[in-house]
Amino acid sequence: MRHLYFLLIAFIVFSAPLCGKDLRVRVLEKYSPRSITVSFNGEKTGFSENGLTGEPRPVFGGRYGIYEVTAGNITRKYPGVLYLCRAPEGTGIKIIFSVREEDYIPCVLASESSAEVYTPESMKALAVAVRSYLRANTGRHPDYDLCDLTHCELYKGIPDDFSLWQGLAASTGTMTIEGKNRERVAYFSTCCGGVTEEPSMAWDCRGIAAGYSRQDALQGEPLCSESPFYRWQRAIKPGELRRVLKKMGASDPGRIFGFSISSKSGSGRACDFSFTTADEGIITVNSSDFISAFGREYGWNRFPSKLFEITEKNGGWLLNGRGLGHGAGICLFGAAKLAKMGWDYRRILEFYYPGAVYADGG
Ligand SMILES: [Zn+2]
Ligand SMILES: [Zn+2]
Repeated sequence: MRHLYFLLIAFIVFSAPLCGKDLRVRVLEKYSPRSITVSFNGEKTGFSENGLTGEPRPVFGGRYGIYEVTAGNITRKYPGVLYLCRAPEGTGIKIIFSVREEDYIPCVLASESSAEVYTPESMKALAVAVRSYLRANTGRHPDYDLCDLTHCELYKGIPDDFSLWQGLAASTGTMTIEGKNRERVAYFSTCCGGVTEEPSMAWDCRGIAAGYSRQDALQGEPLCSESPFYRWQRAIKPGELRRVLKKMGASDPGRIFGFSISSKSGSGRACDFSFTTADEGIITVNSSDFISAFGREYGWNRFPSKLFEITEKNGGWLLNGRGLGHGAGICLFGAAKLAKMGWDYRRILEFYYPGAVYADGG
């Protein structure tokens, strides 16, 4: 009986870290490293693309711990078990960590936030959003779960004050959040510009509004107005639009005479753009497709959000906009403001995900 009791205790203790499956996170892909140096437990080893096969294999005996990886002039520390292989098409070494959720979440919190949006309670709200997001997005890439860029969640490895971030994440237990119809709602962005977006509309504008969009304000006072992106202006030239449309349509539409927003989401964000062209008449394009194509050509800071008005100016157009990012879910600037007013993380979550359902993620 005593023996059985011991086994039971051992089972509980050793199975505890398994609550929440380990995630496979690929890091440093954007640097396409041909060779890297890895330090682990005082051992230091170099790896080059040519010495690896196409099959991911654990190195350093597949031990879980903190690895320091140097690729070119970038050095970062990552928790987990390290797997390496050669990436296809000569794109360097594929670096994948199998990492426990409780180590991954604090690293994401530190990577996604900045001093301007840091408060303990708003970071706890963000921890719940990050946990919910990763639970709903395992297998987002074909041979690993998440990348380390904003495509998935920004992940720069272990921050200097890791224990602080671990404490914030741990204080939210295993709480997750999802929509009343089990839809994914746990998104967040830097600044919503005064009104949040429906999660279902944030990417292609083809979803159905479910009542999550809200004014980011209390008694008419906007919460995120201290963000440098609360209001912004950008100038756009006809030649830039023509070049991007040509890339998208593979034929030259000729001179561009008109640029307008032809449909908007309920929160006022652009869903479709219309262009009046010399050779192809009026062309209508989905705003996300166009902004992606524009970003690839001219950089990603020209359309900080889809919440803007267009006016004609100097033969081109001026965008008067608000916010940074898609605007769905938590607004990090707004959440920090609420936390400074004394709101705790549960109340902040209820504010940004009205009507959503909480669960102990287990
Ligand atoms: Zn990704
Ligand atoms: Zn906001």
